[in-house]
Amino acid sequence: MTTHYDYDLIAVGGGSGGIATANRAGSYGAKCLVIESDAVLGGTCVNRGCVPKKVMWYGGAMAHALRDAQGYGFDVTVNGFDWTALVEKRQQYISNINNSYAKYLGQNNVETLSGRARLVDSHTVEVDGKHYSAERIVLAPGGYARVPDIPGKELGVTSDGFFEFTHQPARVLVLGAGYIAVELAGMMQAMGSSVTLAIRHDAFLREFDLMLQEKLMEEMLSEGLVVKTHFTAASLARVNDAINATGEDGEVLEGFDAVIFAVGRSPSTDDLGLDRAGVTMDSKGYIPVDKYQETNVPGVFAIGDVTGQAELTPVAIAAGRRLADRLYDNQEGRHLDYSLIPTVVFSHPPMATVGLTEAQARKQYGDAVKVYESSFTAMYNSFTPHKTKTAMKLIVTGAEEKVIGIHMIGLAADEMLQGFAVAMRMGATKRDLDDTVAIHPTSSEELVTLR
Ligand code: NDP
Repeated sequence: MTTHYDYDLIAVGGGSGGIATANRAGSYGAKCLVIESDAVLGGTCVNRGCVPKKVMWYGGAMAHALRDAQGYGFDVTVNGFDWTALVEKRQQYISNINNSYAKYLGQNNVETLSGRARLVDSHTVEVDGKHYSAERIVLAPGGYARVPDIPGKELGVTSDGFFEFTHQPARVLVLGAGYIAVELAGMMQAMGSSVTLAIRHDAFLREFDLMLQEKLMEEMLSEGLVVKTHFTAASLARVNDAINATGEDGEVLEGFDAVIFAVGRSPSTDDLGLDRAGVTMDSKGYIPVDKYQETNVPGVFAIGDVTGQAELTPVAIAAGRRLADRLYDNQEGRHLDYSLIPTVVFSHPPMATVGLTEAQARKQYGDAVKVYESSFTAMYNSFTPHKTKTAMKLIVTGAEEKVIGIHMIGLAADEMLQGFAVAMRMGATKRDLDDTVAIHPTSSEELVTLR
């Protein structure tokens, strides 16, 4: 395609966003290079995020299934749980994914380069002193887990460190209140660790619908997890064999084998050479982009977590693919619509959400909002000793009752939402849901039979 540049497109970052963009562009014949500073391709999601997390989440679900089995007549004795063996298998699985990424990139003639890339100008990046030029550059460096700047912080780990645990810590303190804190706390408790989750306020996942926050809190407490509210760690200290955390008010939480910081992530823009290309950042270090993922510098694009929009792998992939469709397949105007992005928190049980929370809906649509809700015990749990609650909320607006929010928590909520999210994108109304014949007996049928 292009002659005077080394490449048509260089992706800085071999994670979900960079790989998706380059693969799609390569499939259209563009000459692409992906530069990754990690030893392996895949980025956070594959190596230290979604994928290994889901494996561990299944581990937690398996522990619950073993507990539940007696309700179905099985006389099960669990003689132990081998964390190390699970981690070894998990890492093998990830290694296979790393290899498959390299294979797919190769099939699309995308070249890869290992090293840290810095912009030299808007068409050139430098890696280990060597320059590579491209007509277009896509910045997809992702982000990193933040660590609070407190004395003793080196005693804690982030989610990166969690995935390096080769042995299961018996007593764990998780600090934070977002996706990662809730997910890691839940899975470790399920697999047999004794977990304390310390949060700064009364609730976690505070941007989610209140129903989800409350039901998940009930569930986590019923699983034996300790939730310490109004605790902000001011320091960590090693005392004998354990780690203690002291809060800003002087309260001490003591006796942990591991402390995990899950207090949010920051964009990896510190050392990207953005100033040399004239690419602007916002005050938090994110790179603002227009709806076509283009930065303030023409020809320089940004994808994924670094843009500070919905920081989710499928969002980065979708944005990257659409960008490549537009740039290299003449799909004029193609871009990602960031509204109505469904998302799941892999808690135990999982929770799933799309659209507006009730609070957001009432703020936006006032009295036009109507809420349908249901809370019940799923059939599966009618026989199990531990009763996991299932709850669903449908938020509609206007006389036509257009669906503007769906929120659910319960077994299989993670698998239920995708199809409903499609319906919402298509403008589904309550009537459309009512007119859809239920699948019986399931939990999801509740959403088409709400009254
Ligand atoms: P989040 O931004 O989701 O949550 C971090 C939370 O931690 C804050 O909202 C805040 O909550 C709390 N916090 C902030 N500072 C401190 C502090 N010093 N001490 C204690 N708590 C603090 O970040 P995560 O790291 O959990 O996740 C990052 C992103 O990764 C997510 O937003 C999500 O987009 C993505 N992700 C998605 C997953 C999925 O799709 N299943 C799984 C994991 C991550 P508060 O103000 O209430 O204290």
